Amino acid sequence: MTLTPVAPLPDHEVRVRAPGKINLSLRVGPPDADGYHVLSTVFQAVSVYEEVIASSSERFELTVSGPQAEVVPTDEGNLALRAARALADRVGIDAGVHLHLVKDVPVAGGMAGGSADAAAALVACDALWRTGLGREDLVEIAAELGSDVPFSLTGHTAVGSGRGHLLTPALTRGEFHWAFAVQHRGLSTPAVYRAFDELHSGGDVAEPDPEDDVPLMQALRAGDARALGAALHNDLQMAALELDPGLAEPLAVAEDAGALGVVVSGSGPTVAALARSRQHALVLAAAFTASGVADRVLTAAGPVAGARVVSASD
Ligand code: ATP
Repeated sequence: MTLTPVAPLPDHEVRVRAPGKINLSLRVGPPDADGYHVLSTVFQAVSVYEEVIASSSERFELTVSGPQAEVVPTDEGNLALRAARALADRVGIDAGVHLHLVKDVPVAGGMAGGSADAAAALVACDALWRTGLGREDLVEIAAELGSDVPFSLTGHTAVGSGRGHLLTPALTRGEFHWAFAVQHRGLSTPAVYRAFDELHSGGDVAEPDPEDDVPLMQALRAGDARALGAALHNDLQMAALELDPGLAEPLAVAEDAGALGVVVSGSGPTVAALARSRQHALVLAAAFTASGVADRVLTAAGPVAGARVVSASD
């Protein structure tokens, strides 16, 4: 479908916020012929946000601020810029955009910061260019950009299948409180999957079975943080620990400080600890800081909404 968008107004600016995520459960199957792994995962969007400010420009340009801004690519390697181009191609618009990313989600931390930027860029450019596309069209473009991008658009809590991009909303009650131990050294997602494949080179990996997450889904429906803590699961955790053995320290610190559950987030290296309350999340964060096991410590609540416009000015 090719639409004729209204030309963007000069000096028009759109601000969009998109959340980071954690995987409450990540079950990984064997690699397919292309090397991709079939997943069964439960995502939760948490209140650590990326902000993308899109403004009219003749070219496609990108600037970045926030912690670790210096390690974020500003060329075509940046997923947000790729998202903007993909949307422009889809609607046949002959305009550029300046994207400014205000990053807060850890870079290469297993919390899908790049995917959040891509989702935010899609929503921002969609508003800036007045494309007239529907939400489903944006989800389709999102899935082509990366398997975590559709979830960054929708947010809340959802079960992901396929490569993680096929989403079913999950029923949840109440709010869950988290503390995160962030490492600036980062972990490459492909490297963690390679380590996973090596650990399981004996062919012992079964197709992931969503039935294994029934206790987790019940805990979410009941708003039972204690049961959720006991059900957290990550098949990539051992691979992440293999590449970064130092991660055992924040895991142990969170357990000692009474976390209801603790897990490496996605492909790591961020460690997510589930707290009893907002107050207890601050206690867990203080334990991470005092023991010196993190470069940065965050607290957050989930679930929260996906990428949303926060302001637009003409
Ligand atoms: P995921 O959890 O989806 O595997 P992640 O949170 O571990 O992702 P990201 O922060 O999204 O990792 O980025 C991983 C790599 O992608 C970075 O090291 C960087 O080189 C590149 N990258 C591309 N676009 C971005 C972006 N907008 N922000 C941060 N990194 C980006």
